[in-house]
Amino acid sequence: MQSPTIKQAFGLLKQIQQIMKKPTSMSERLECVLKTIIDKLNADAATCYFTIDDKYLELLAIYGFYQPAKYRLRLGYDEGIIGDVAENKRSLIIDNIWLYPKYASKPELSKEQDFTSFIGVPILQWNHVIGVLALYNKNKMQRQQEDVELLETIAMMLAEILLSEEVSLYKKSLIKARGISSREKIKGVCLNKGYGIGSAILHRRRQFVTNIFAQDKEKELRRLEFAHHQMNVDLEAKFNSTKLGIGEHIDILDTYRMFAKDKGWYSKIADNIKSGLAAEAAVERAYEDMWSRLSVSSDSYLREKLHDLRDVADRLQSYLTGSTNQYENNDAKDIIVIAQTMGPAELMDYDYSRIRGLILEDGTPTMHVAIVAKALNIPVLAKIKGIYSEIQNGQTIAIDGNEGYVYVNPSPQIEDDFRRRIAKRKDLQNKLDALRHLPTKTLDGVPVGLYLNVGLPLDFDYIESTNCDGVGLYRTEIPFMTADTMPDVAKQVSYYKDLLNRCGDKKVIFRSLDVGSDKLLPYWAYAGEANPAIGWRSIRITLDRRAILRKQIRAFLISAVGKELNVMFPMISDLAEFEDARETLMIELDKDKNRGLPVPKKVNVGLMIEVPSVIFQLDDILSKADFISVGTNDLAQFIFACDRGNPKLSERYDVLSAPFLNVMKMIVDKANNAGVYCSVCGEMASNPIEALALLGLGYRNLSTTSAAFLRVKSMIRSINVENVADYMQLLLKSTRNTLRPQLIAYAYDHGIEIY
Ligand code: PEP
Ligand code: MG
Repeated sequence: MQSPTIKQAFGLLKQIQQIMKKPTSMSERLECVLKTIIDKLNADAATCYFTIDDKYLELLAIYGFYQPAKYRLRLGYDEGIIGDVAENKRSLIIDNIWLYPKYASKPELSKEQDFTSFIGVPILQWNHVIGVLALYNKNKMQRQQEDVELLETIAMMLAEILLSEEVSLYKKSLIKARGISSREKIKGVCLNKGYGIGSAILHRRRQFVTNIFAQDKEKELRRLEFAHHQMNVDLEAKFNSTKLGIGEHIDILDTYRMFAKDKGWYSKIADNIKSGLAAEAAVERAYEDMWSRLSVSSDSYLREKLHDLRDVADRLQSYLTGSTNQYENNDAKDIIVIAQTMGPAELMDYDYSRIRGLILEDGTPTMHVAIVAKALNIPVLAKIKGIYSEIQNGQTIAIDGNEGYVYVNPSPQIEDDFRRRIAKRKDLQNKLDALRHLPTKTLDGVPVGLYLNVGLPLDFDYIESTNCDGVGLYRTEIPFMTADTMPDVAKQVSYYKDLLNRCGDKKVIFRSLDVGSDKLLPYWAYAGEANPAIGWRSIRITLDRRAILRKQIRAFLISAVGKELNVMFPMISDLAEFEDARETLMIELDKDKNRGLPVPKKVNVGLMIEVPSVIFQLDDILSKADFISVGTNDLAQFIFACDRGNPKLSERYDVLSAPFLNVMKMIVDKANNAGVYCSVCGEMASNPIEALALLGLGYRNLSTTSAAFLRVKSMIRSINVENVADYMQLLLKSTRNTLRPQLIAYAYDHGIEIY
């Protein structure tokens, strides 16, 4: 078969556009579209399915099959060729379906047996499959790539129907009738804690591209220029709001703004217009090109870029069509926004002072919209598949961002309970806020050094707001992970100086690059390793790639001129490794001195205690190190031989048990005897009940997350550390696999504040 010429394709798309505008029912319009496609593309039959819960495909329209079966077919993603298109998000051309391994005959489609060839494409919203469009032929058919592209363009237009209120209601009625999921309490993944209750708003993608081709290229280019300019003017105004404060979310929004202005992206759109597309379709094509290049990457950073780009593309399309304010809205004082996915700026299109929660069908902790929501103090629950089709605008939703539950139409008791919790949280926050300027001292007068762990620039703001003693761990790999390319010395100096300036005279401990395992750099190729957590990571990489370590050390030395510099090396496994790393630092320091360059006032070199082998060499290590800091996250994973990222094992072993606590005791005792500064910067320090045990063992310096800081401070100010030490002596002899209940009971009995 001859593929349609551009002119024919153009004619077909125009015709479909006309059909879509007809004031008939959704099913009539769809059927008419299928019939038109069949005629123009020489097919014998066509089907259109929509997806439910990313698991099922429900037949929505059909043409060319025996009629009685219509609207009564549901397929699983694992069933047949249609399932293959949806599950793998790919277009398929099949000459002979009988030979296709995934072919599954459906008796309901009684005439299906007559067909030989198939062509099917996914219908996408963002990069999410919302349906499948397919054509069938009785005879063997040589379809071309042009057919696929044309069908994909038609699928783009059909997305509008699939996301219409009419289909959404139909979908909901099916879900209800079949009991697929009429859930009242739904589990999600918590991306930002907190409680919220409000009226649901279903966030819709604002534009569907129906304007595909244009004759007058100059006119389209002018439209693009005007819309692009207007969009950027409005973004400037939106993001300049003083309510947004400062922090990492501002970096994200700035990056977004730069994206919106990006010349490369703009010229790609212009090129698409020059090849005959209308401006809206040119934007869509530019997004799709980028999507097909970046979506294959498993890197979370690149995937976040795609979300940003989708958001910018949608925004530009709405300026092109002059429909900029199309989001669903309601007048409720408190709203909960529910989205399949979302870009960072879209959240801000709502009146964010009314948003009490955000629920996403997809989502990761690094997702930009989640970071912006966090900065705006909005609880976020993610990864709740299918919720978008279960909830209706205006329904009451309660969101528990602590336990990770969404309640749909909560009972009056649950509503009351939520309102109480929201009020209690506010009270607790006020109580904790009042601690900021009080000393970090136990009831029996023992001072404790309380520091912060930082990584993102957003964290730097907490140095002042918590009134901490300094930074106990700066995870320097974080700025490396969020950069596009490896930061050079000058760039690194700007990060480190920023932190040192914000800290003034407070102590700052820089950790050298700790990459590998779960922390990958987007611009660095990693060979897959069987056991990355015990593989080529951290100091093992930087000692092998010495230039990287030297550059980082140079940046540390330059940043800390005239100040005290504390550098620690992560994942050290023996003394030789520590000495090697330390010497590299000393050589750089000597070089600067010999050149007469200004240097830090004092340089202290330490290491993290994370690998059990160093504990057996601790006396030697302590004679060489200026300080140590215990990384309990890695240390626990190696002591218990238990992958810290494996959810199946997350509750199997407890750091609050004699094996681990005895190890921790041994470390602090040896450090105290040697007079070497010792702290804990792993998660144990951020959990009040675990931090209580650490104080009882003899630790006097803790470094916590910003969220935990005041809660740990509150615990410290409510204990008598001598008494806790006595109690810990007893617990260290216990053979129970967890001592958590005992410690919690002790805390309650002694009025210790463990929030
Ligand atoms: C640790 O392992 O406890 C630690 C603080 O390092 P990270 O969590 O960055 O591996
Ligand atoms: Mg670690």
